[in-house]
Amino acid sequence: LSVSARTVRDGDGGFAGAALAYKDVTDLVRALQVKEEFIALVSHELRTPLTSIHGFTALVLERDDLPEDAVHQLQVVSRNVDRLDRLVGDLLQTAQTERGTVDVVRRPTDLAALVRDCVEAARPALERAGLSLETHLPERLEVSVDPQRTAQVVDNLVSNAVKYTRPDGRVEVCLGVADGGVELEVRDTGIGISPRDCHQVFSRFFRSRHVTEQSIQGVGLGLSICKAIVESHGGRIEVESAEGVGSTFRVRLPYDAPTGD
Ligand code: ADP
Repeated sequence: LSVSARTVRDGDGGFAGAALAYKDVTDLVRALQVKEEFIALVSHELRTPLTSIHGFTALVLERDDLPEDAVHQLQVVSRNVDRLDRLVGDLLQTAQTERGTVDVVRRPTDLAALVRDCVEAARPALERAGLSLETHLPERLEVSVDPQRTAQVVDNLVSNAVKYTRPDGRVEVCLGVADGGVELEVRDTGIGISPRDCHQVFSRFFRSRHVTEQSIQGVGLGLSICKAIVESHGGRIEVESAEGVGSTFRVRLPYDAPTGD
């Protein structure tokens, strides 16, 4: 049952009583369950053929007798399969996080190396988009996190920075220890986010009007997944942005500094 209550006032604004409304939401809850099950099932079914396409494309690309234009075409296939795979993964994970927090398996991890790897993986996309890259990373930063999930957060923030920044812009990735916590910042000189939208970017399926009008691809799941992952680590994620100037996404994670003994 969903219950809502309201105060009822008389003509002079005095308290006249209270109204309670009870609503049976059984059907709604059931519909939501069906939706989750459907998303999970479809995502699983899509994953299998995608894995096969991905594997065979990679295999053909390894041949050294391919004409150059075929290599380029296959690279496009490969990038699009990756995109589809990420989308399916996001849908699957969204269906899972709707039921609670993300499962996190912590391991001692060199976060500096992890961020460096993510940035390197994004370098071709950065170059293709005509963006310059700046990094401020320590040599090592040992923390206890789920490496796979954390990489997913970094990948997402960096790929958004690339996606929402026009050619000749800059993407900056900084990592360090601040206020007793680990702080990761991904900054861009991109299109920015309006103050009103800043409150909503971490909500599922939210996309600003700006990006839908410009037909920039995406479904609005990445940041909600990032938030769920960061919060499952006991951390938080926030954004500072100015339209037409750029955005800074900041992730803070708890940091237990090594004692050295
Ligand atoms: P998607 O990128 O697929 O739309 P996200 O959940 O990653 O989904 O982002 C939600 C929305 O937040 C985006 O559609 C966009 O409006 C805004 N956004 C996210 N990152 C940035 C950024 N770096 N610069 C400007 N807007 C952004």
